[in-house]
Amino acid sequence: MLAPIAGKYLDNYNPATGEIYSFIPDSDATDVGHAVASAQKALPAWKNMGAEGRSLHLLRLADILEQNLERFAEAESIDSGKPLSLARSMDIPRAIQNIRFFATAILHTQTETHEALPTALNYTLRQPIGVVGCISPWNLPLYLFTWKIAPALASGNCVVAKPSELTPMTAYLLAELCQQANLPAGVLNILHGSGGKVGASIVEHPEIKAISFTGGTSTGATIARTAAPIFKKLSLELGGKNPVLIFADADYDTMLATTVRSAFTNQGQICLCGSRILVERSIYERFKKDFVREVEKLTLGDPMQPDTRLGAVVSAAHQQKILGYIALAKQEGGTILTGGEAVYPEGRCRQGWFVAPTVIEGLTQDCRTNQEEIFGPVVTIQPFDTEEEALKYANAVRYGLASVLWTENLSRTQRITQAIEAGIVWVNCWLVRDLRTPFGGVKDSGVGREGGWEALRFFTEAKNVCISYPSV
Ligand code: NDP
Repeated sequence: MLAPIAGKYLDNYNPATGEIYSFIPDSDATDVGHAVASAQKALPAWKNMGAEGRSLHLLRLADILEQNLERFAEAESIDSGKPLSLARSMDIPRAIQNIRFFATAILHTQTETHEALPTALNYTLRQPIGVVGCISPWNLPLYLFTWKIAPALASGNCVVAKPSELTPMTAYLLAELCQQANLPAGVLNILHGSGGKVGASIVEHPEIKAISFTGGTSTGATIARTAAPIFKKLSLELGGKNPVLIFADADYDTMLATTVRSAFTNQGQICLCGSRILVERSIYERFKKDFVREVEKLTLGDPMQPDTRLGAVVSAAHQQKILGYIALAKQEGGTILTGGEAVYPEGRCRQGWFVAPTVIEGLTQDCRTNQEEIFGPVVTIQPFDTEEEALKYANAVRYGLASVLWTENLSRTQRITQAIEAGIVWVNCWLVRDLRTPFGGVKDSGVGREGGWEALRFFTEAKNVCISYPSV
């Protein structure tokens, strides 16, 4: 692990206490240049090692990460403010699973052949791109970091990767584990620092041939503006404003419990959280009462405590942004049914950045609260009368990442899943993930798909070989 060439560092905060607890390298374009050179040096051997050799390296890394699960879960919780129980049960296990999944998937790839008798045989080679860039956000730090680097490395690329400056710690610790796993030097280069500086330098670097980015829609647009004119391959996983459609025939108890989770897991800071809850009018009042009661039962506080369900939001600036949206919702005529304010827990978290889980009603779909991504513990609820109206509301935003449908009616399920504008539709469930499935959004939620073969295809270039048959 190397110090930044310019010798500059940024503060790293613990969101639950509001205190600085570490420093991180404030890397710049010079550091990116060094990382690219080291990746280029490592590339021939890594590429030519073959899938089996790369798979063994990645499996070893996954095993070592698993042995360190508790240490990583603690680090993730301290760095991001999320409950330790969530980091332990979701973030770190999923990071291990990501690495194992792509380490084994790469052993089962196939390429296409197209025979054109009597003239020629075509076959398609899928070759690594070279040096690629992976940029990930703060909400699921190691989970999303490994979701990108694992398929990139398994496919034979060398990687220059940047976690969010807000949550750098588990990526930093992963570098230690890569050394323990004897991952060859230069194969994975992890750079820390701000998006505007080191992130932008990664995107601009001419020898980084592809960028896989997850983050906000406006950052995605900035990246696309830089990368498109230099014909860099791009995968953009961006923001969302996901609808939850609840029909009166839903399995009520399962729906209620899952809707609380889909609204507030990770303080609502998951791109897949459902923040616009649309409820059939005949059960609206019942749902409203039960939902608010269940939300008020959620324990908010010290992320290290085992019964904590909501921890801190990621930064002081993000807390202010969320509180700003709550104020806006009131101006727009919304009624706060519960929450609506910052919380200052007793004890060591008194100065931390907490926001009470907030439920708002009385807003129309076209107001800013219902149109813009808040990315915090804030949801709106709204009644609808017909299936057409529910669908119209669901699709009435610029985003199209995920959606959730609650109904026992099969015909309706088929109609809505066809018509809804989203990359993912969960029916009678939420966040059930199968890593083989395509993952991504439509409209302003992104371009391209990750997951399974989609990721392996993104991180390879197809080259078609056409061999003429001899004339007989
Ligand atoms: P940002 O877009 O602010 O940042 C994402 C990453 O990009 C960070 O590492 C950031 O660095 C970096 N970055 C910032 N500016 C640039 C730039 N000009 N060039 C290159 N890199 C840059 O998003 P957040 O971290 O705030 O994450 C939240 C967003 O991510 C939400 O909109 C959420 O919906 C979305 N998201 C989407 C997912 C999906 O799968 N579609 C999944 C998870 C989140 P730094 O933080 O250091 O500034």
